[in-house]
Amino acid sequence: MYDILVNKEYGLPEDYIPNDLIEIDKKYSIKGMAKKEACEAFIKMVEDALKINLHIINESAYRSYERQKELYDEEYNKKGNKANDTIALPGHSEHQTGLAFDLCTDTHNMYEFENTEEFIWLSKHAHEYGFILRYPKNKKDITGYNYEPWHYRYLGDLATKVYKSNLTYDEYYKKSSKEI
Ligand code: ZN
Repeated sequence: MYDILVNKEYGLPEDYIPNDLIEIDKKYSIKGMAKKEACEAFIKMVEDALKINLHIINESAYRSYERQKELYDEEYNKKGNKANDTIALPGHSEHQTGLAFDLCTDTHNMYEFENTEEFIWLSKHAHEYGFILRYPKNKKDITGYNYEPWHYRYLGDLATKVYKSNLTYDEYYKKSSKEI
């Protein structure tokens, strides 16, 4: 279940709700829930970062189909088809899996996150906790989305393999399912 692929091609049923969502500790999160194992890995990662005075917080984790629909409609009304570069259609958001986290520092400025020490640390260490950067720079033709330095996806043990492959998760998933 932790290796599920959700992208523009593969979606989730409207009524899909992860079975073990828990509230993320408010010390490290504005709001939200995530699957238990992902949540525990997130807390461990954030607490290790804190030991070297880096402040990582969760801005958004699990989102229901209905919530994603509201966000999508809002963005579509503003931008039309361009909305599809930045936000997933309902049923196609990784946030519905309960395994995706939008991370930031305590400034809450997502668009500056890339230039922070916290981001640099995550780039080197997130995979050790089971997370990968899901929408890397210059990969829109593969992932379908603009670069998102804040969006991390929990993959558990698989994260290190994906990280070392230098592939997007979409590519890695296709490649590994062919090999099986
Ligand atoms: Zn996200």
